Amino acid sequence: MAAEPAPDVLDAFEAAKGFMPVKEGLALYAAAADAAALGLPLLEVGTYCGRSTILLADAARAAGVSVITVDHHRGSEEQQPGWDYHDPDTVDPEIGRMDTLPTFRRTLHRAGLEDHVIAVVGRSPQVAALWQSPLALVFIDGGHTDEHAGADYEGWAPHVAEGGLLVIHDVFPDPVDEWTGQAPYRIYLRALESGAFTEVSATDSLRVLRRTGAPD
Ligand code: SAH
Ligand code: MG
Repeated sequence: MAAEPAPDVLDAFEAAKGFMPVKEGLALYAAAADAAALGLPLLEVGTYCGRSTILLADAARAAGVSVITVDHHRGSEEQQPGWDYHDPDTVDPEIGRMDTLPTFRRTLHRAGLEDHVIAVVGRSPQVAALWQSPLALVFIDGGHTDEHAGADYEGWAPHVAEGGLLVIHDVFPDPVDEWTGQAPYRIYLRALESGAFTEVSATDSLRVLRRTGAPD
């Protein structure tokens, strides 16, 4: 049976603001537990308010590794004021821009998982350009344009260690299902076509791929 988060962690996850359904969250947790056994860190692109981070952090805690979570905390295109996925509570009233960092920190504190997470505040490609360590798992859940999803794939997929996992959220092969566009689907196809990754599981829009070939 796949690894599952502790009941208190699951409660914290369900209470957290964000965009990760429970079923996909459980698949993400199982992937994180599998990958963390490599003894290398897990990395997330797209922290938002920490909903998915909680699950990665619990799996990392069990294995004695860290999670790095990257976000500029200013929100994606579809989360800006006037768009469907906007939450007015995420706006910093002093500057009038989104700032999800305070909510993220509260979420992680309440879940008791702060010690297992390193939060990097910045643009994903800028952080990726400095990155040099192998990763057990890369979870791509950031911007949904081709520019952003493509840069996340190009910047982070090469750092997935042999036997490690590349997890992509919001993969919609059928354009009828989409609300975010198909850029995540396109990077999923690129990963498979690269020959470096093999599909392990698909749970709704969450795809888990394992590195079985050389870095591309
Ligand atoms: N994983 C979260 C949801 C992430 S939403 C959950 O489980 O709820 C997508 C996030 O990606 C937003 O917080 C947005 O600020 C961030 N993001 C979008 N493009 C980015 C980029 N280029 N660099 C860093 N963060 C980015
Ligand atoms: Mg998502």
